[in-house]
Amino acid sequence: MIGAGAQRPSMMLAVFAVLTLAPLLALAYFSIQIASRSATSAARSRLVATTSVGAAYVQQQIAGLANVVRLEARQPALIDAAADGNYSNYRLAEMFPPLTDLQQASPGIQFAAISDPTSRQRIVVPESPTILGVDFTYRDWYVGVIRTHATYVSEAYRTDLPGNPLVVAVASPILGASGQTLAILLVGYRLDGIQALVSRLATSQGIALTVTDQAGTVVARPGDAPVALVSTNDPGVAAALGGQSSILQVSGGNVAYLRAYAPVADIGWTISASIPLSAALAGVYQLQGFVWVVTALLALISIAGLVWLGRLLRQRRLDAAALATSESVAMKARVTAGGVVALNRAKDELMSTVSHELRTPLASLVGFTELLVTRRYPQAEQKQYLTTMLEEGRRLTSLINDFLDLKRMESGKSPLVLAPLDLKALIVRAVAASGPSETTPIVVDISQELPLVRADADTITQVLSNVLSNARKYSPAGGAIGVKARVVDNSVEVTIQDSGLGIPPEVRHRLFETFFRVDNSDRRQISGTGLGLAICKRIIQSHGGTVSIDSAGLGMGSCVTFTLPIAREGAKSGDVLLVEDDAGFAQLLEAELATQGLSAVWAADAETAERIMEQMDARAVVLDLILPGKQGPEFLTWLRRGRGTGLPVVVVTVKSLSTKEIQAFQQVGVEAVLGKQHGGAKKAADLIAQALAAAVK
Ligand code: ADP
Repeated sequence: MIGAGAQRPSMMLAVFAVLTLAPLLALAYFSIQIASRSATSAARSRLVATTSVGAAYVQQQIAGLANVVRLEARQPALIDAAADGNYSNYRLAEMFPPLTDLQQASPGIQFAAISDPTSRQRIVVPESPTILGVDFTYRDWYVGVIRTHATYVSEAYRTDLPGNPLVVAVASPILGASGQTLAILLVGYRLDGIQALVSRLATSQGIALTVTDQAGTVVARPGDAPVALVSTNDPGVAAALGGQSSILQVSGGNVAYLRAYAPVADIGWTISASIPLSAALAGVYQLQGFVWVVTALLALISIAGLVWLGRLLRQRRLDAAALATSESVAMKARVTAGGVVALNRAKDELMSTVSHELRTPLASLVGFTELLVTRRYPQAEQKQYLTTMLEEGRRLTSLINDFLDLKRMESGKSPLVLAPLDLKALIVRAVAASGPSETTPIVVDISQELPLVRADADTITQVLSNVLSNARKYSPAGGAIGVKARVVDNSVEVTIQDSGLGIPPEVRHRLFETFFRVDNSDRRQISGTGLGLAICKRIIQSHGGTVSIDSAGLGMGSCVTFTLPIAREGAKSGDVLLVEDDAGFAQLLEAELATQGLSAVWAADAETAERIMEQMDARAVVLDLILPGKQGPEFLTWLRRGRGTGLPVVVVTVKSLSTKEIQAFQQVGVEAVLGKQHGGAKKAADLIAQALAAAVK
């Protein structure tokens, strides 16, 4: 119980712990998830915005320049100066001023030049003699312009000019009146501006901007190293070159990035902006750390609270247990003390009753003895005194016997020996033993054939004798005593009815108490011990029966009723029937027969034995001669009459028989006549076993 009690609170605490910690963990987990999602989405928006701004800037720079170049190429002065498209007819002096204006229009413009339709440079501002006359047919601006007859923005490249700056060329054809290309106006735009923007964004925002040209070649990206002009195989760039914006999570080395891609309108370039995921989620990581610290703290607080609660509960339980223990100890002490007090009181009462009961006859005995010793009395008086002394002596003896009987029974020292019993025969014998009386005749009225009961013959005889003697004693004015018996359910019920003093209703329930006697003037002269009914009750109850005493009231007679259980069929079957009133010897015989593999059924008197023989087919009989009612020889006669001489019978007796008597038994087929002395039981069992074995052969 204590274990179960201890388990329940700790289980409850475990449940509480789960109930407290689980939501806490869920809260922490989901808040981090939400924070990470919103941080990612904020980073995406930032990247998209950056790519838009970057794309707008690049577009404005390059497309703006392309516009300027296109317009300049339509200037009549330049068209005139280009003459008929033949280089040798070019009027170079007229070309210089517009070229110079153009070159100075923006700080990003590295050079402005005019080449002839065969791609050879004819004039360059600022003047760069090394490239005059050089054939640039391999440059895409040339190919583009010749193919499209329109303004063309080239791929990025490093010029052959001093410092080899990274540029894109914006080229526009100078067209003649009939649309033929007279010359090509060319502007080299340094990509430093774009690179500067990229670097600015990288340092200020931590965003890496990468710009590619229409061939996917990187023209600007963060970092000081000169751009290698390598083509990228980034799928986001490929999509942007096809005009598609996108956001991807990509990994470079061991680092994951979030990267947004966008096309740059009009010029077919792309721009992408990326930040490391760790940077995008830096705030989340910070929050995550914070959340976990707070969660851990809260969990610790909860656990500490639960532990404290657990301790508190445990302490309470211990206190309660201690209280209960101390209360139970106190209660036990009270009970024990009460029990001891009650026991002592009962003992004291018993002692005083016993000594009182003993003292009365003893005082009378001592008194009369003293009189007889000290004085001389006439013979008649002497006899009267001696008679009184004899009665007192007997009373004393029966008191002591009853008392010892009761004590023996209570201590279980005289166990019952139960066997099938013919109750009617037992009643008849008990009545006979009570002796005749003219004033209180006992009338047995048992017409019904009774089944055998399972009982100890000696103690039931004691009960009957006690009840019958009470019936007589408490009928001082005389009156018949009726004894009846009948079957009620699984028992035989015996009633002993008298028409004597009766019992006052208020004490009826106390009659079975030890030493209880009804105390009124009618009975003062009636001697008794107050133990008889108490003994009867214990005997009947140990048989599994009930006993009660009833009376219609004072002067209305009394009726004692007791029941005994009917013997079961199994109790009446066996190989050998033992007809023996000595329970101890019967048990010994039974044990000896069992060693021979034979079962026995025991009858304590001849009447019972006859009833059993009527119901069972015993294969042999062990017979005692001196029995309570019908005697052994009589039973033998009955047996031989019914069964012939074939049934093996061994006689066992304490009686010493003459040779003649023994021969008489042998003549009626008795196997042997044995004494009950040491070894008698074994010998009887051996003889029975031999006889049965011989019969089988
Ligand atoms: P006792 O030795 O006094 O007879 P019992 O235990 O046999 O002791 O009976 C207890 C008391 O019950 C008796 O003292 C008596 O008053 C009452 N009693 C018992 N049997 C009868 C009876 N048949 N008629 C009237 N009173 C009886």
